[in-house]
Order: sequence, then C-alpha cells, then structure tokens
Amino acid sequence: MDSLWDYPDFDGHELVHFVTDRKSGLRAIIAVHSRYLGPGAGGTRFWHYAETGQAVADALRLSRGMSFKNAMAGLPMGGGKAVILADEARTKTPEMLAAYGKAIDGLGGAYVTAEDVGISVADLVEVAKQTKYISGLPVASGRAGGDPGPYTSYGVFLGVKAAVKRKLGKDSLAGLHIAIQGAGSVASGLARHAAAEGARLTIADVDSAKAEALARETGGTTNAPEAIMNVAADVLSPCALGAILTPESIAALNVPIVAGGANNQLATQAEGDRIRDRGILYAPDYVINAGGIINVALEYLGEGDEAQVRSRIEQIPGRLETIWDESDASGRNAADVADDMARKLIGRG
Ligand code: NAD
Repeated sequence: MDSLWDYPDFDGHELVHFVTDRKSGLRAIIAVHSRYLGPGAGGTRFWHYAETGQAVADALRLSRGMSFKNAMAGLPMGGGKAVILADEARTKTPEMLAAYGKAIDGLGGAYVTAEDVGISVADLVEVAKQTKYISGLPVASGRAGGDPGPYTSYGVFLGVKAAVKRKLGKDSLAGLHIAIQGAGSVASGLARHAAAEGARLTIADVDSAKAEALARETGGTTNAPEAIMNVAADVLSPCALGAILTPESIAALNVPIVAGGANNQLATQAEGDRIRDRGILYAPDYVINAGGIINVALEYLGEGDEAQVRSRIEQIPGRLETIWDESDASGRNAADVADDMARKLIGRG
C-alpha cells in the first residue's frame, strides 16, 4: 500500500485525524468522510486491533457508512466515525477519555461523536467534560436522545414489516416465523415488537443465556449460533455481527427476506448480486437501522421530542420501498441502488 489515499476504503475522506496522547496512552483515529450535509457524525468504537491497519480500515469503512446512513435518513449531518485503539486488556481511564474529548474539541465541530461498540453512556459523560461536539448523553424523559438501541429496533421492526408486505403480501407479522441472529440491544427490541404482533421467533446468540432469556420473554425458541443463518423461516434478521452475508452463507439461506439491524452485513459489495440472484429481498442495512442515529442526531440538533424521532423513523419503510422499486425497475441489487442514492445525496453521484 503506497499511502492512505490508496486504502480501498479511503473513498475521498475529507479528514483523517490521528491522535496520540503519550501521558494517557490514548491512540485514536477520527475519520470524517463527508461534511456535505453537515458535521461528520458517528460513534466512537473502543476496540483492540491486532494490527493498526485494521483500525484505519475500520474507521474509514464505518465513517463512509455513516455518510450514507445519515444522508439516507434525511438528516442534516455528514458522516464520521472514530476508533480508539485499546490495548489487549482494554484499559480505559478517565485521563484517556479526557484526552479524547480534547482531540474532538480541537476539530471545532467537524466531527460529532456518540456511542459505539465498547463505549458506554458513562464514558461519553467523561468525554463531554471536554467538548460539546457529542450526543447520546442521558436526556430528560420524553426528549430525543439517550440510548439509541430501542429506536434502532423500532426502525428495524417497521422495515421487516415493509419487506413482509412487499414479498409475502401480508400486513402483519402474525403467524410468521422470524429467525433473529443476536439477543442484544437491537435484537431484543425487535423481538419484543414482533412477538407483540404474533410472530414466532427463533433466536440465537453466542451468549446462550441471553438467547434463552429473550426466547422465554417473547415465547420463542433458541437455536445454535452456527445454525441460525440456515433456519427455514419467513425472515432472517441479522442483529449481531457484520460480514455475515458471504457467498457460502447466501447459498445456504432458507428465507425469502433478509432484514436486520447489524451494520455492514454484506461481506463484500458483490454479495448484493448474490442475494438478488437467489430471489431474496434484502433491506440495505444502513437504511433499515437508522433509527438510533435519527434519535441521537435530533438530540444533538436540540430538535425534538420522542414523537418527532418516531415520526422520522416511520419514514424508513418508504425509503426501503423506493430502493426496492428502483431495484426492480433497473435490475440492480438493492445494496447498490441504496449506495447510488446515498452518493447523490452527498454530492458524489
Ligand atoms: P449488542 O452488543 O447489544 O448485541 C450484540 C449481540 O450479538 C450480543 O448479545 C452478542 O453476544 C451477539 N453475538 C455476537 N456474535 C454472535 C454470533 N456469531 N451469533 C449470534 N450472536 C452473536 O449490540 P447491539 O447494539 O444490539 O448491535 C447489534 C448490531 O446492530 C451491530 O452490528 C451494531 O453495529 C448494529 N447497530 C446497532 C445500533 C444501536 O442503536 N445499538 C444502531 C445501528 C446498528
């Protein structure tokens, strides 16, 4: 690799900021893909990477994903993401978080952060002592903001319903079988909404106690994590990891619909065609899982209450419909159609 500009995921990033704070041991990368629509907004990931190059690739890939997600959600926000390079023991200190807050502040609002994997609300409260360019903080009841998980789940639930309507011609999930990968924050909210509507659930999580507790609560059953991708069901909803849709896993899918909240579900862009060629309806991940960022963005903009957040999330099914219509009309797969729409919205069409 000759330079950062040659990274496959660089994709014309506006800004990539490398942070070293020797005193606290902080090492971080702040990536801002696009500020065309507003400040680069996206969470901070705290993760141990075996190689620094993986951290750079993660920051760039996630930051571009946020540009697309925020644009498609109709938010006045650009896309950014940061990673803090944790040591193997994942040591995290208040000094490190303070140094990180100062680094964000130094960018003067080019980047606005929130939670991501490994960063809790309590961590963000520490970061917020140094900067105002932050969202996802505790909020008063009824206001926009706070934990994005339940809002993501609500959007995913509505997206699953839209997919069911389109592919199976049904207005309700009653009696349908939904296989859910994961039993964490997004998966559990989806499971509760779907069970309340009468869906039958099969749930798998590497943490089997979590899967069992969620199955008990929602009247579902559990399955082994390695089997959930092959379950015969009406919908597969990936709500755990990225890169789970590979040539092999797509060939073994036993569902007419894949619609779930996990980020970066396609292992590579080529998987979009493979899913289409199997006649499976796919909901592009960053469109269906935008509920959380909608909530966090309205908190940052100081624009709203919970009702406004919900009404914006309720536009997700319409966006999916537009993508599927265009996909049907052009023959191009839904993931490529969504990427093209997003690129146009950020002035890179
Ligand atoms: P979470 O940590 O609460 O839950 C993830 C769950 O997945 C955990 O219970 C974990 O044990 C399980 N898991 C890990 N590997 C697994 C495997 N191989 N098979 C089955 N289960 C496995 O995280 P979350 O907030 O629910 O996020 C889930 C996904 O949704 C992630 O991809 C995340 O990036 C994405 N997402 C989350 C939000 C949000 O608001 N929380 C928003 C957008 C996208």
